[in-house]
Amino acid sequence: EDDYDVLDTVTEDPDAIRYLPALPVIAIVGRPNVGKSALVNRILGRREAVVEDTPGVTRDRVSYKGEWNDRRFTLVDTGGWEPDARGIDASVAAQAEVAIDLCDVVLFVVDAMVGATSTDEQVVRMLRRAGRPVFLVANKVDDSRQEPEAAALWNLGLGEPHPVSAIHGRGVADLLDDIMKVLPTVSAVAKDEVGGPRRVAILGRPNVGKSSLLNKSAGEERVVVNELAGTTRDPVDEQVELGGKVWRFVDTAGIRRRVHMAQGADFYASLRTSAALEKAEVAVVLLDVTQPISEQDVRIIDLVLESGRALVLAFNKWDLLDDERRRYLEREVEQDLAHVAWAPRVNISARTGRHIEKLVPALELALESWDTRIPTGKFNAFLAELTAAHPHPVRGGKQPRVLFGTQAASRPPTFVLFTTGFLDPGYRRYIQRRLREIYGFEGSPIVLNMRVRE
Ligand code: GDP
Repeated sequence: EDDYDVLDTVTEDPDAIRYLPALPVIAIVGRPNVGKSALVNRILGRREAVVEDTPGVTRDRVSYKGEWNDRRFTLVDTGGWEPDARGIDASVAAQAEVAIDLCDVVLFVVDAMVGATSTDEQVVRMLRRAGRPVFLVANKVDDSRQEPEAAALWNLGLGEPHPVSAIHGRGVADLLDDIMKVLPTVSAVAKDEVGGPRRVAILGRPNVGKSSLLNKSAGEERVVVNELAGTTRDPVDEQVELGGKVWRFVDTAGIRRRVHMAQGADFYASLRTSAALEKAEVAVVLLDVTQPISEQDVRIIDLVLESGRALVLAFNKWDLLDDERRRYLEREVEQDLAHVAWAPRVNISARTGRHIEKLVPALELALESWDTRIPTGKFNAFLAELTAAHPHPVRGGKQPRVLFGTQAASRPPTFVLFTTGFLDPGYRRYIQRRLREIYGFEGSPIVLNMRVRE
């Protein structure tokens, strides 16, 4: 179970509070059936059978943590949505677009046995304009006799093809070694300067008002920072002044450039959400108060929780809210958003601009919680008091005890408890609740890990 994740090392890094290493992001792009899933599995070192490329199946998860020779990175699998034959071009183009906007390195996978198709050539043109390192991966080269087919891909003009067999593992170690030579240790896309503007992702399903909010916030005085000076691309992020402070809104290109794809739109939206979260420190999730809270809204919020980023909820289109709808809304919030009751809520109207400045204190509060570090002595005094007042219930004649605890990390606050047995889920929730009662942590997830001493 996730809650029982055991940390390999428990470190007290005094710098961690001021320094967030945004992991570099590697994206995998390619046509259906070239072996993207197999390559993802191989790079992640997963033993289980390769995920089938099932046509039409949408996967929710698109990003994974990977590691190679002690270097950590995020791997984004853009191939989770496999279109029908007509949709292939659009789908691969959309993959490439997200990869170019939000990733540090792109792996472009081609089936060496099939060779380059016109779809491949079209994507190559996009990738060459992008100004990101691109690795041309020639897959399905299962033995050396097939290497000439891989070499033929020099023609694409993306440099040397890297022959691999994702299924058998051939060539993948060399590929990863080469990637590590150009991969930054900290995501250059996130440009995560200490003391720089804080990074905000504006998220929400289509038509909740993301671009309206962006336009209102940016106003006329929008400071555009071109990430890719010398290229013709739109800037991916924008710096915006709000409440007298400069913020960096990440992936505004994705908000402004409205890709209306008939199919797969949900998949590409969640791809963008995941990749934007990787760059952000805090997410503003917009909800449309005129519409019932939907599964899609909850899924976006869950992606934020999974990413460990701070969270602010913005209830938009407040100008359209009438009394009847308001009563329903309150009930929906209680039902569907109970698990994020700790997130600051602001009611805004992105169209009129009313109350959008209230986002600022909410963002500041969420980030402050996210940065919080409780000294070990204080945390143990808290634990001693808590366990004395409410000891863990006896289970099968045994009573698990909390021996000691420490905050292993911030961003988000991550605690490790050393215990004499597994704590009940209910007891863990109780500890989390008390932590919030005492320390607040409004707007930040809290992670509670355990190390059991048998
Ligand atoms: P996006 O898809 O999330 O970027 O949503 P848009 O910003 O394009 O907004 C979708 C529609 O909702 C547009 O017609 C907006 O004018 C409208 N809209 C956005 N915010 C508000 C708001 O606060 N009040 C009202 N009345 N309409 C809004």
